[in-house]
Amino acid sequence: MTTTNEDAARDEIVRTARALHARGLSVATTGNVSQRWGAGMLITPSGTRYDALTPDQIVLVRGDGSVVEPGRRPSSEWRFHLAAYDARPDRAAVVHCHSPHATMLACTRRAIPAFHYLVTIAGGEDIPCVPYADFGSPELATHVAAGLAERDACLLAHHGQVALGRSLTAALDLAWIVEDLARVYHGALLLGEVPLLDADQVSRACERIGHYRDGIDRS
Ligand code: 13P
Ligand code: ZN
Repeated sequence: MTTTNEDAARDEIVRTARALHARGLSVATTGNVSQRWGAGMLITPSGTRYDALTPDQIVLVRGDGSVVEPGRRPSSEWRFHLAAYDARPDRAAVVHCHSPHATMLACTRRAIPAFHYLVTIAGGEDIPCVPYADFGSPELATHVAAGLAERDACLLAHHGQVALGRSLTAALDLAWIVEDLARVYHGALLLGEVPLLDADQVSRACERIGHYRDGIDRS
C-alpha cells in the first residue's frame, strides 16, 4: 500500500525501482519511478543504477517542478510524471520503463489493441501509443497526460511504456502486465493476422475486469 510516511515512501520507491530490474522490465539506468507526495512527488534521481540506489537519493519535487533540496537531479522525465498526476487525481504512483516487447511495439508506433481480454485492465479497449517527442520534454509530458487521461497505461512511440497505479505496487504490476501483453501480441503478430475482440466482447471485458483492477489496487 502507498504510505504516508516519507522515509517508508522512499524505501518503497527504491524497492519498486529494483523490482523493475528483477522482473526484466528495465536495464542499467533506464526507466523511473515516482509516488505522489502532497502537491508534488518523490521520484528516482536521473541516471542512477537501481542496484546502487539508496532512499536518501530519492528526489522531492514540488508541484511546480522545483526541487526541494537544491543540487538534486530528479529523473529527466519529471515533467511527464507531474503531468500524469495532474491528469489523474485518482492515481498515486507512476512507473516508466523500456521493457523490451512494449518498446518493440512502441518503436513501430503500434498500440496494443483488444486482441486479448486482459488489455482492458488498463481501463479501455486498447493500450494506446502516444506520439514521439524528445525524452524529458514538455511536449512528451503533454502526450503522456493525453494518453493517460482515460487509461492507466500507454506506450510512448520510439521510447517505452508508462503505467499508473493507486500504489507503487499497483503501477509496477500494471507495467509488468503491459509487458506480458506486448510479448504475447508480438508473438501473435508473428503468426499472421491477429483478430480482435468485437465491441460487445470488449465492453463485457471492461465490466468484468473490475475485480482484477481492484486486486492490483489492493496490492
Ligand atoms: P532518467 O535516468 O533521467 O530517469 O531517465 C531514464 C529514462 O528512461 C528517460 O526516458
Ligand atoms: Zn525512458
